[in-house]
Amino acid sequence: MAEEHVFWAEKVVDEITKQKRKEYVCEGMWTPSGYFHIGNARPEIFTPYSVYKTLTDRGFNARQNLIIDDFDPIDKIPKGIPVKKEDENKFVGIPCRLAPSPFEGFDSWADYFRSQLTDVIDQFGLDLNIISSYNCYKEGKFNDLITFSLDHSKEIVEVWNKIAGSDKPTSFLPVVVTCEQCGKSLFSKAVSWDGKKVSYECKCGFKGETNPLNGATKLHWRVHWVASWIVNNVAFESGGKDHFSKGGSVDVGQALMKEVFKKPVPYQLPTEFVQLKGAKMSGSVGNLFGLKEWLEVASPELFRFMFFSYKPNSAIDFSLQDNSFILLNERFERAERIYFGEDKAENERIEAKLKNAYSLAVIAKPGKKIPLQIPYSFAVQLSQLLNPKTDFEKITGLLKQTGHLTQNPSAEEKKKLLELFGRAASWVEKYAPEKYKLSFIEKVSEKEISAMDETARKVLPGVVEKISSLDSAKEIQTLIYEIAKANNIPPKQMFKTVYLALTGKEFGPRAGLLILALGKKRCLNRLKELGA
Ligand SMILES: [Zn+2]
Repeated sequence: MAEEHVFWAEKVVDEITKQKRKEYVCEGMWTPSGYFHIGNARPEIFTPYSVYKTLTDRGFNARQNLIIDDFDPIDKIPKGIPVKKEDENKFVGIPCRLAPSPFEGFDSWADYFRSQLTDVIDQFGLDLNIISSYNCYKEGKFNDLITFSLDHSKEIVEVWNKIAGSDKPTSFLPVVVTCEQCGKSLFSKAVSWDGKKVSYECKCGFKGETNPLNGATKLHWRVHWVASWIVNNVAFESGGKDHFSKGGSVDVGQALMKEVFKKPVPYQLPTEFVQLKGAKMSGSVGNLFGLKEWLEVASPELFRFMFFSYKPNSAIDFSLQDNSFILLNERFERAERIYFGEDKAENERIEAKLKNAYSLAVIAKPGKKIPLQIPYSFAVQLSQLLNPKTDFEKITGLLKQTGHLTQNPSAEEKKKLLELFGRAASWVEKYAPEKYKLSFIEKVSEKEISAMDETARKVLPGVVEKISSLDSAKEIQTLIYEIAKANNIPPKQMFKTVYLALTGKEFGPRAGLLILALGKKRCLNRLKELGA
């Protein structure tokens, strides 16, 4: 059965359940020193979620954790955060949870960045346990491991050096002390351990000693990572593929787990990166594209679909500023039609994969029949021609004509439509390339006129005369087509001329719909005017 799984996570579950655990914890980790971006979402949330969901669907006891590593220090000020250069010193080096918030209304630096994620994460239909590292240290959950690591620091350094090929001195102590004088943890160094207290020195000049337990120190991140596996009993974890290089942090962590802590290693899976052109992808730069920004232009289901329809080892590379975003929407819409038997895939295997990705992507369980489906690209056009808030009835009227709606939308469908049109409009405003922009041009210039088909221009008055009494998009469309045929004008040229006259573009939605959406009166006036 193993080789024929439709979904990659099935195979992972086959493997990890060999561990015969009572509970399978799938975990991700993120440091709230800057913004959470969609590149973090793949290794830290959606890959563990895929495994978690497969485990629970197969009846195993599982949970998904997202560790917020808020005990880590701020290493630099992200762009776009209003901290003056001369004030950076007041923040850099302090643990995120202990530093003040860069914006009013939040308890700490960590709380601000965490809330940017946790305010929206519920909309993505997950089942996450969000855990603060700082709280765990404060509550003493790491105490035993801190003592153990200090007692075994020589062995830790030996294994680390052996695997990473590094030459860390054997005097190294794997804890990071928060300095009692300056409050920073980035610049302190633990120098000795007497079994009860750690002596440390800080760049600020302070020398002191402290009981390392209950939040006074944090384990060095390499050891903290391993200790988190033990504290949270982690069975599965994924990470960016950069951690998986030979002698890298995964190799070191696994060796420490086996050779020093003598515990079973969780199943670890490398994930490829998400490349999003047109948006920056590092938590420390400004203007980046996070989950909130995603929801402005697309549904959470599309986000889920993106991750469920690719294997973790394939790079996801798309742009918000070209048609790859539209293509992603179209893939989802097609998967939906295939799921409900209204479309077919190239072969059975692809069909099974798309059905699986769709069923995982939808947040509520899929119903018996296909939900109202308006292609995103069509919503992009309609949202520019009509205002969804004020012209909603006109829009539904047109959708009935196009066959997208068979009756008045239910309250739920209305909500869905308004969300869709709102997102499409945001995409047009923020990211869409010029070719997707659509509006009635106030004036037709020489440029448009010279691109028109001359014969087509000549028959425009005749077109106007015949369509002025029609109110059906389909009839208008057919009539234009027939007039073109009757005058030996290739229909493509005819429609191009109409588009140029109304929108200045060579392509567009069906002309009948375009005319009704833009307002018949002004369209007909325009076409009449242009009739040569
Ligand atoms: Zn200090």
